[in-house]
Amino acid sequence: MESALTARDRVGVQDFVLLENYTSEAAFIENLRKRFKENLIYTYIGSVLVSVNPYRDLEIYTKNHMERYRGVNFYEVSPHIYAVADNSYRSLRTERKDQCILISGESGAGKTEASKKILQYYAVTCPASEQVQTVKDRLLQSNPVLEAFGNAKTLRNDNSSRFGKYMDIQFDFKGAPVGGHIINYLLEKSRVVHQNHGERNFHIFYQLIEGGEEDLLRRLGLERNPQQYQYLVKGNCPKVSSINDRSDWKVVRKALSVIGFNEDEVEELLNIIASVLHLGNVQYGGEEGNACITSDTQIKYLARLLGVNGAVLTEALTHKKIIAKGEELMSPLNLEQASSARDALSKAVYGRTFTWLVNKINASLAYKKTSNMCLTLCLVVFLVVCCSFEQFCINYCNEKLQQLFIELTLKSEQEEYEAEGITWEPVQYFNNKIICDLVEEKFKGIISILDEECLRPGDASDLTFLEKLEDTVGGHAHFVTHKLADAKTRKVMSREEFRLLHYAGEVNYNVNGFLDKNNDLLFRNLKEVMCMSENKILTQCFDREELSDKKRPDTAATQFKASLAKLMEILMSKEPSYVRCIKPNDSKQAVRFDEVLIRHQVKYLGLMENLRVRRAGFAYRRRYEVFLQRYKSLCPDTWPNWQGKLSDGVSTLVKHLGYKPEEYKLGRSKIFIRFPKTLFATEDALET
Ligand code: ATP
Ligand code: MG
Repeated sequence: MESALTARDRVGVQDFVLLENYTSEAAFIENLRKRFKENLIYTYIGSVLVSVNPYRDLEIYTKNHMERYRGVNFYEVSPHIYAVADNSYRSLRTERKDQCILISGESGAGKTEASKKILQYYAVTCPASEQVQTVKDRLLQSNPVLEAFGNAKTLRNDNSSRFGKYMDIQFDFKGAPVGGHIINYLLEKSRVVHQNHGERNFHIFYQLIEGGEEDLLRRLGLERNPQQYQYLVKGNCPKVSSINDRSDWKVVRKALSVIGFNEDEVEELLNIIASVLHLGNVQYGGEEGNACITSDTQIKYLARLLGVNGAVLTEALTHKKIIAKGEELMSPLNLEQASSARDALSKAVYGRTFTWLVNKINASLAYKKTSNMCLTLCLVVFLVVCCSFEQFCINYCNEKLQQLFIELTLKSEQEEYEAEGITWEPVQYFNNKIICDLVEEKFKGIISILDEECLRPGDASDLTFLEKLEDTVGGHAHFVTHKLADAKTRKVMSREEFRLLHYAGEVNYNVNGFLDKNNDLLFRNLKEVMCMSENKILTQCFDREELSDKKRPDTAATQFKASLAKLMEILMSKEPSYVRCIKPNDSKQAVRFDEVLIRHQVKYLGLMENLRVRRAGFAYRRRYEVFLQRYKSLCPDTWPNWQGKLSDGVSTLVKHLGYKPEEYKLGRSKIFIRFPKTLFATEDALET
C-alpha cells in the first residue's frame, strides 16, 4: 500500500489549510495542479470548496456517489460538491438554521453546473411524497427554461448565464423540498439586439428556429434560417458544435409543460420571441432625415403576433411623442433615433418577458404554507472582464460579496474560538469597504453621479459623466482616469475610460453607453402601444399605471444597488457555505492547466486571503470523539476503549504522541492543532 506520505506528494492535500507553506501562492497552485492532474477537481479551504472545471464528464456524480456523501461528516470523505450540499442540508435540519450556498467564479468556471449538481443531489436524496415529487420536478425543470431564455454562447462559455440568479428552496420539517423561489438580476438585455463576433443571442431564438415545428414557424412567419435575422447575424455564429438547438427545443417545450405553462401561454410566449426577431428586421429609410419604415411585411406580423394596431405601431417606431404647452405633438425621429427606439423596444419586450417567466416559475413553485425552514441556494455571476456598464454592476456586486465573505468567515472563526473557549487572535485583512463606498455612497459615489447625469437635461453625455467623476472622486485612491493617470497607466487607457482598483485587480471601464443603459428609457408612445397589446403576457409586462405615473422610474444602477442591498440582507441572515469555481484554461479543454490564468483567479477570488484567515490560528480542528476514534490505536492508554472524559482521552493521547504545548489547544469539544506537520506526523504514524 502507498504510504500517506507519498500519496500526499502525488495528489496533494485535500484541504489547503494543511499546506505547510500556507502563505505561498506557488504552493497553493502546485497543490491544485497535482490534484487536477489526478482528476481530483475538488479541494477545501476549511469549509470552502474550491472546484476546478474538468471540461469533461467525470464519473463522480453517480447515485452511488450521492449515497456515499449522505449524512457523512465533511472530513471523512474526499472533497465533493455533494459534501457541501449534504452539510448544508444537515445543518438546516439539525440546527434549524437557514443555509445558503454561494457559488462564484468567472465565466465558464462551472457555477451553473455546480448549482445543478446540488439540485440533483437534493432531488435524489431528499424524502419525497407525490406532491413533493412535483416540486422536485419543477425545480429541476426550471433550469432548462431559464437557460434557454437567459443563457447564450459567448467567447468564454458556450452556455453562459447572462443574468444573476438567486434561488431559495423551502424544506418542510421532514426535510422534503416543498417549494422554491427564484430572483433574477440584471439580464444582459443588450444581447437581444447586438452580439460580438463569435457570440450568439439567447439560445431560445435558435432553438425556436431550428426546432420549431413547420406549422408553428409558418404561423409565426419565421424562416428556418437564423442568418435571415438581423438580431442573430451580428456574431456570425449560428451553429455551435457543443449545442444541439433542435433537441434542446424539445427539452424546453417539455420543461415548460412540467412547470405548468398551458398551451395558450406557450403560444403567447413564442409570439413574443418571434416578434423580437421581426422587430430586428424592421428597416428604416427616409427623406430629409426623417425615418420611415421601408416595408410593411414585419409590421403585419408584429401587429398580429403582438395584438396591436399596425399603423399605431408604425407611428410609434418612427415618431416620438412630446408634450408642449399642454398639447401632444408627434415629432419625427431621424434614422439613428428610430433604430435605437426599435432596439429599445426589443430589449424592453424581451427583458420584461424574462421577468414574467421567472414570476411564472415562482408561482408554480410557491409553497402554500409559510415554512420556517428554508435552504437557500444562491448563484451569482462573477466576471472580471472589460469594460461596460453591466460589468461595472457585476463587479460592484462581487465587491459586496467579497466584503460579506471576509466578514462572515472571520465572524464564524471568531465564534468557533469563543464557543470553544480559546483566545481569539485578531487577523489583519484588506477591508474593501472603501471600494464599495466609492461606488455606492449616497450623493458622492459613482452611481449617484451617474444618476445625476442621467437626470440632467441638456448636454449630459457619457463624457460629461466622466468629467464629473474626475471632479468628484478624482482624488480617490481606487479611481483613475486617463487625465489623472501617471504616464505608464495612461498608455493602457483610453480617454473614454475610468479605472477602478478592485480588491481583485484593476478594471478599466469604457463610459460609452453608460447613460443610455442606466436610463433604460423607452419612448412613451412605444410604451402606450405595448399597453394596448392583446398578448396576455405583454399586458402583464406593460402596466397602464406606468403611463400615468409621473415619477421617473429608478435608474438601472439604482435598482441594482437596491436589489443587491436586499440580497446582502438575506445572506447575512443565513449560514453561508462557499463554492469557488476556477476555470483551468481559456480554450474549454480538458487536462490543460493554465497557470497564469489560474493564478489570476486565485487572486481575485480572494483564496489566499481566505486561507490566511482560516490558518491565522489553527490549521486543523476536530471533535474529540472523531480525533480519539481515529488515533487511539497509537496510544496504549486510550486503546481500544477510553473510559474517562473525551477531553482527558485526547489529552493523554497527544501527550503520548509528544505534541508540544504550543502546537495544540484543547477547547470545550474540539482539539485545535496549529501546524499541519504535527498532524501529518500522527497520520504517518498510523500508516507504519
Ligand atoms: P457563466 O458565468 O458564463 O454562466 P459558469 O460558471 O456558469 O459560466 P458553466 O456553464 O457552469 O459555467 O460551465 C461551463 C462548461 O464547463 C459547462 O457547459 C461544461 O461543459 C463544463 N463544466 C463545468 N463544470 C463541470 C463539471 N463539474 N464536470 C464536467 N464539466 C463541467
Ligand atoms: Mg452559468
